[in-house]
Amino acid sequence: MTLNPDAKLPEDESGTVVFNTDPLIIKSHYEIDYMHSYAEDSEFFRSLGKKKLMGSKCKKCGYVYATPRSHCMFCGSETEWFELPTKGKIHTFTTCYFSGEEFLNETPFNLVMVEFEGVNSLFMSRLIGADTSDMYIGMPVKAKFRRNRKMSVTDVYFVPDVEK
Ligand SMILES: [Zn+2]
Repeated sequence: MTLNPDAKLPEDESGTVVFNTDPLIIKSHYEIDYMHSYAEDSEFFRSLGKKKLMGSKCKKCGYVYATPRSHCMFCGSETEWFELPTKGKIHTFTTCYFSGEEFLNETPFNLVMVEFEGVNSLFMSRLIGADTSDMYIGMPVKAKFRRNRKMSVTDVYFVPDVEK
């Protein structure tokens, strides 16, 4: 039998960050694995692994979306998938000096809204391989796909569509 009134839990040198004492506000690490469904957008994410960009087209009014969309925002009808071109041009762009946590280490980076021939809406993505000062509206760009896909919209990015 062991009865030890001097027993103590192990201590370490870590503490916590206190932001306020009344009410007490402290910093706590929080991390979860998040399982979610892409539901009707699944085909878009599966296709990225086949180096394809899938858009959606309204079966009724014919509006053409550069993004996954199960139903038309104009007439409410179902859409159908179609393969987008992988080449387009910059409709507009911005340089991000701040971002969400996932991309904070990559700042500054360029975001572009890509327009495709015959498509009514735009596709937002990253553009690499060009300095902001070299970018312009109407600049030809082409899609590239990560070899090791993560089933995320970041599996696709754009580069300048120029000869080497
Ligand atoms: Zn429609």
